[in-house]
Amino acid sequence: MSFADILGHDRIREVLQRSLRNGKTAHSYLFEGVCGSGRGKTARALIQALFCTVLGDDACGTCSSCRKIASGNHPDIHTISPLPDKRDISIEQLRAMQRDLALRPYEAPRKACIIDPAERMSVGAANSLLKTLEEPPGNALIILLTENAGLLLSTVRSRCQLFRFAPLSLEHLLTLLTQNGLSPESAALLAPMAGGSVQKALELDNESLVARRESVLSNVGKLNLNRIATIFDAAEELSGNREKTLELLDMLLSFYRDAVHLGAGNADIVNGSSRREIELLASRRSLPKNLELLEAISETRRAVQRNANSKLALDHLFMILADGNKS
Ligand SMILES: [Zn+2]
Repeated sequence: MSFADILGHDRIREVLQRSLRNGKTAHSYLFEGVCGSGRGKTARALIQALFCTVLGDDACGTCSSCRKIASGNHPDIHTISPLPDKRDISIEQLRAMQRDLALRPYEAPRKACIIDPAERMSVGAANSLLKTLEEPPGNALIILLTENAGLLLSTVRSRCQLFRFAPLSLEHLLTLLTQNGLSPESAALLAPMAGGSVQKALELDNESLVARRESVLSNVGKLNLNRIATIFDAAEELSGNREKTLELLDMLLSFYRDAVHLGAGNADIVNGSSRREIELLASRRSLPKNLELLEAISETRRAVQRNANSKLALDHLFMILADGNKS
């Protein structure tokens, strides 16, 4: 894994590579961001660059150290995660890691350890890590990965250099998904729903998602203020728990964003597999009207996030979407 393999996060890469060139890497890093945004890859790129015997600020990919890291069996790298069937990272796991860091590295200039997800360290484990973070034995490098730095003890946070990883852009996500073997069509379908995370995109169930999109587009197409049942029925069918409703609203946002693009004369849309339905959405209203709808959907999303009743929120939104649909 070299820095060149990481998509996005340009500033973070720049800062890390500069510190490698200056020989001023920190002892302890905290990488915060959604799973699947590139935190782990960046952690491995940093370690590989540090261990590489050829290049100073990146991995060459061909030296013995780089090859061992790529094949996942470099003896000086440890990853600590909760053991199978355990919720937390235990203090015993931390102690075993500390004992190991105290030994001389086998072949690298120093040892390295990734703790993922760091927020799952038990309080005892986190407390036992404090001294290691302050004075890592043998100059070891420790990288903590977390989705939310706020969930860590402030004493752990303050001992690490923090980098915040933004969710991946749609463009980068599409590239990574096709690199992961998805067809361009599947990638285009999943990416808008994935919140900037490769992992989440790969977890989404493609088939049920296709069915749900079709159901959403067909229900929204039928909304009609003169037949109020179309509104309540659609809200009934499409609302669910908060997470499901947010997923629906993300879909609607994605559809109406595309409708706005089409309305503005930009044919390049994300949901290409539903182009016909989206052209219909775009043609029903003027561009400013579709922009207003986009704002209404965003507002509903914020309300549901703040725990508004999903069904009532959708009833209200669907009335706004119905206004303007031809009867
Ligand atoms: Zn190398």
